[in-house]
Amino acid sequence: MDLGLRGKIAIVAAASKGLGKAVALELANEGAEVAICARSAANLEKASAEIRSRTGRGVFAKALDVTDYAAVQAFVAEVEKRFGRVDICVTNAGGPPAKKFVDISVDEWRTAVELTLMSTVFFAREVLPRMRKNRWGRLLTITSVSVKQPIDNLLLSNSIRAGVTGLAKTLANEFGADGITVNNVCPGYTLTERLGELADHLAKSAGASRDAILGQWAAQVPIGRVASPEEFAALVAFLASERASYINGVTIPVDGGWAKGLM
Ligand code: NAP
Repeated sequence: MDLGLRGKIAIVAAASKGLGKAVALELANEGAEVAICARSAANLEKASAEIRSRTGRGVFAKALDVTDYAAVQAFVAEVEKRFGRVDICVTNAGGPPAKKFVDISVDEWRTAVELTLMSTVFFAREVLPRMRKNRWGRLLTITSVSVKQPIDNLLLSNSIRAGVTGLAKTLANEFGADGITVNNVCPGYTLTERLGELADHLAKSAGASRDAILGQWAAQVPIGRVASPEEFAALVAFLASERASYINGVTIPVDGGWAKGLM
């Protein structure tokens, strides 16, 4: 299937590693011009080199923190100046820490809101007016299956990602008539570097092996294993494409069937 992504201009936030990098790689593979950001310039350089060598396509990369609105504004403006437009934007950021309610300070709440919700608002504010001008656009937010089924100990994620979901659903209503779709994509257990480190951490404290921890997670999933980042990126690329032109305002898990609800 030709997704029609050749020549599209795509921003992928927080994309030097993990899910973001896999999405950038998939979009580049489909012929899109890709612009990525993350805080570490060294990791961005590594990711750009990998995308270049695996797809033969150049990558525009900028070191920035997605919670810095001025930096996001400058980045999106630079992408537009370089490539002429912005067609696709995939929002993403690091995950908020895993904690229970009584252990979370007010400052930690504020920091998590900045990271998860406000970073999405920042990108949406910058890309949507540009997409509206061109009468075409795709805004995709990377959230979590926690918006389908809250996960114990992930109170910040459970609470704030629901806000991102509501934001995207409302934007889908406001911008649909402009040729822009807005959708949420929700990873379940996906074997990124971060998940591997989390497994190592839990393995150490439980006196178990990394494989035993990954096995416990896999056992919760009807498909019987955790996902690869590429399996997640495949959905994002489809939703970013011309082929998904009538899919708008939805929240789709890529979780192997982990979430137990009907919808
Ligand atoms: P990851 O492997 O740790 O990658 C995170 C990426 O985000 C890195 O490129 C990191 O680069 C960048 N980043 C983090 N904070 C940033 C910031 N403030 N500004 C700019 N870039 C930032 O994580 P992942 O597994 O791909 O997860 C991505 C998101 O999906 C997270 O929010 C995570 O909670 C969520 N999620 C993941 C899973 C899973 O199983 N993997 C499941 C559900 C939800 P720098 O550190 O250099 O900035």
